[in-house]
Amino acid sequence: MTRTTYTCTCGARLEYRQDLEKESGLAAPTWKCTDCGTPVPGQIAEKVSHQHPS
Ligand SMILES: [Zn+2]
Repeated sequence: MTRTTYTCTCGARLEYRQDLEKESGLAAPTWKCTDCGTPVPGQIAEKVSHQHPS
């Protein structure tokens, strides 16, 4: 399976669920960088949120 990683504008590398902060929204949850709180694009966040360190 392909691993998705995303580099936030603050420089943090978002690779696992724990790197994201979930904020419940009305329609869909918003995912944010735990370091700086910048929203992460939804499609990327969805993939990253399913990744866990083995
Ligand atoms: Zn960040």
